[in-house]
Amino acid sequence: MYPAHAYGATSATSPLEPITIKHRALGPNDVLIDVKFCGICHSDIHTVRGEWGPQPYPLVPGHEIVGIVAETGSAVARHSVGDRVGVGCMVNSCRTCTPCRAGQEQYCENDCILTYGSPDRDGTITQGGYATRVVVTEDFVVNVPDAIRLDEAAPLLCAGITTYSPLRRWGAGPGKKVAVVGLGGLGHMAVKLAHAMGAEVTVLSQSLKKMDDGLRLGATAYHATSDPDTFIRLAGSFDLIVNTVSAPLDLDAYVALLALDGAMVNVGAPPQPMALSMFPLIMRRRTVAGSTIGGIAETQEMLDFCARYRIGAEIEVISAEKINESYERILASDVRYRFVIDTTTL
Ligand code: NAP
Ligand code: ZN
Ligand code: ZN
Repeated sequence: MYPAHAYGATSATSPLEPITIKHRALGPNDVLIDVKFCGICHSDIHTVRGEWGPQPYPLVPGHEIVGIVAETGSAVARHSVGDRVGVGCMVNSCRTCTPCRAGQEQYCENDCILTYGSPDRDGTITQGGYATRVVVTEDFVVNVPDAIRLDEAAPLLCAGITTYSPLRRWGAGPGKKVAVVGLGGLGHMAVKLAHAMGAEVTVLSQSLKKMDDGLRLGATAYHATSDPDTFIRLAGSFDLIVNTVSAPLDLDAYVALLALDGAMVNVGAPPQPMALSMFPLIMRRRTVAGSTIGGIAETQEMLDFCARYRIGAEIEVISAEKINESYERILASDVRYRFVIDTTTL
C-alpha cells in the first residue's frame, strides 16, 4: 500500500482539509505516479459539495493530474519510471462495449470509473489528484510532451480535452465562426484551441473585464452578455457555440446567435434543468448538444496538438492551504484562468 498526503472533504458542507489516504499495492498493469501538480476544475466544486448527487466521503477531488512515474507494475509496457505523465477524469472503463472499443471510453456503456468518488474494481472508492501520489492502470495514463511545462499541462487533462473534443467533432477550423461562452478554465482553453485550429473566435463573457486577455488568447471579438445589444448584433452569426458556463443560462438567447445548421455544444454542467424552445431550432436546423471530456487516444492527440502549437493553460499556482479560498474565487468568476495546486505543499 502507498500512503499519500492529500486534501479532501469529509462532507458536502465542510471545507477541504489535510487527510492521509492509502493507494492499493501495484497490480501488474498499475503505475505509481508522484503527482507534481493538479488543476482545480469547477467540477471538483460541484462534486464535493454534492451538487451532482450524494458522494462518498472522505473525498479527495482532482482530475487534472500531472506527475512523474515513480514505479511500474511487472507487466507495464506503456510507461517507464521517470516519464512525465498525466491522468484526467477517468481511470478505467469496461473496454468491451462499443464506445470503449471505438476509443470513446468516456461514453462507456458500463460506466467508466471516474478518477475520484467512483467505486473501483477492488471495491475501494477512487481518490483524486489533490494528493502526493496516485496509482492508475497504465492504459489511462497519458504522456505529457516535453514541450509543455508540467504545471501548465495539468489543466489540459480536463479543461483541455473537454473543449478540444467538441471543437474537433463539430469541425472548428478555417472559415468557421466559433463563440465561447464563459472565459474561465474551460473557456480560456476553448479560445486557445479553436484559434490554433484556425477558427475565428468570439468570447461571450458576462462583462468586458477580461477582454484584453481574451484577445491575447486568440479571440478576434469579445462581447458582454450583460449588454442586451450583444444578442441583437450577433443574431445568426455562429457556426458553433461552446458553452462552458457552470450556471444555468437563457438557452434560447444563445441559440438565436447560431447560423443555419449551427450547433450549440454544452460542456458546462450546472445541475439545474434549462428551458429550450423548439421553433428557433426547427426553423434554422440548429442543434443543441452536449459533450464530455474525450477518450484516452484523443486526450493524447490533444496533448500532442498542444505541444505542436506551444499551448499550455494560463495558470495561478497555489499552495494547498489556498484550496478553499480558490474555490470561492472560482465561484466568483475570479480565476485567471486555472488554479493549479503545487503538490509539494500538501
Ligand atoms: P470556471 O473556471 O468557473 O468557468 C466558468 C465561467 O462561466 C466563469 O469564469 C464565468 O465566465 C462563467 N460564469 C460563471 N457563472 C456564470 C453565470 N451565473 N452566468 C453566466 N456566466 C457565468 O469553471 P470551469 O472549470 O471552466 O467549468 C465550467 C463548467 O464545465 C462547470 O459546470 C464544470 O462542471 C463543467 N465541466 C464539464 C466537463 C465535461 O466533461 N462536460 C468537464 C469539465 C468541466 P465569465 O466571467 O467570462 O462570464
Ligand atoms: Zn474537470
Ligand atoms: Zn465500456
